[in-house]
Amino acid sequence: MHTLRLSADIDGITRAATLLRDGALVAFPTETVYGLGADATSGTAVANVYAAKGRPAFNPLIVHVASITEAKRYALWSDAADRLATLWPGPLTLVLPQAAASPLASLTTAGLNSVALRIPAHPVARALLATFGGPLAAPSANLSGRISPTTAAHVTDGLTGRINAILDGGACTVGLESTIIGLTDPDGSATLLRPGGLPQNMIEDVLDAALKTPDQTNITAPGQLASHYAPNASLRLNAAEVDPGETLLGFGQAPNATLNLSPSANLSEAAANLFDHLHQLDATGAARIAVSPIPEHGLGQAINDRLRRAAAPRG
Ligand code: AMP
Ligand code: MG
Repeated sequence: MHTLRLSADIDGITRAATLLRDGALVAFPTETVYGLGADATSGTAVANVYAAKGRPAFNPLIVHVASITEAKRYALWSDAADRLATLWPGPLTLVLPQAAASPLASLTTAGLNSVALRIPAHPVARALLATFGGPLAAPSANLSGRISPTTAAHVTDGLTGRINAILDGGACTVGLESTIIGLTDPDGSATLLRPGGLPQNMIEDVLDAALKTPDQTNITAPGQLASHYAPNASLRLNAAEVDPGETLLGFGQAPNATLNLSPSANLSEAAANLFDHLHQLDATGAARIAVSPIPEHGLGQAINDRLRRAAAPRG
């Protein structure tokens, strides 16, 4: 794949927005680090983010939006959200319950009922979001396990040939990831899920309350949030045949499958369908789900990682 280098002027931003609308991947500057942007409503575009980064697991992605009005389309709003949103635009991410009518792809939130939202402050990011006119899922624009990129050159080093374009907006000013605040507790309390670019005391001032830290809740680390979605049904992986009493989640040729992640054995399509299909099979009340073998390469690694977690015994 040829990676276009776009300058951060009107032409470059218009081109980037058009590419994103077509499902392409575009790295763009934010004040924290460069993000690898994809249309957050497109499961395939988001699957391609994982493929480009070589991420071995699906973590929920932060959804970048242009305005508070738009944020409210995707999340259930609250008084605390109103207060914290006065700190936007900036290096602050709010995790909120997801709106019932949210159009986000299930892969964007890794099948969770919550959504992480941020309005970035970088003028190029804001212009791109306004021109694109929708939500952008954007993890850091680096290969999995490498250092976060704070210049377009860092992005080029890691991702040239793996993404469609890089919008060059110079060096990031904050250089630290966003601070993540959880607002999903029914009691209305706010939890510091990840320290980052916006200091804790500024957040507490606006809230007029102390933040809980994850060890005061049942969440021990932000990363573990990702492992929360598991179906009610029990899962049997690498199933060559479907046993009596089982519902088959197919991949590739699987005539007996109730649902098929990708009849043509395409891993991007399978990743895009993964959480939707698990939710749908759960909704049928299936007690035992057998899953066809999925190759352990490329996106198959992340798909299998997620399936293994979902299949693991839980208390
Ligand atoms: P980043 O690595 O900067 O892209 O931040 C991603 C992190 O944000 C995840 O590892 C989670 O800790 C958090 N996060 C993103 N989306 C969600 C969500 N839907 N629900 C809960 N936490 C989320
Ligand atoms: Mg990262």
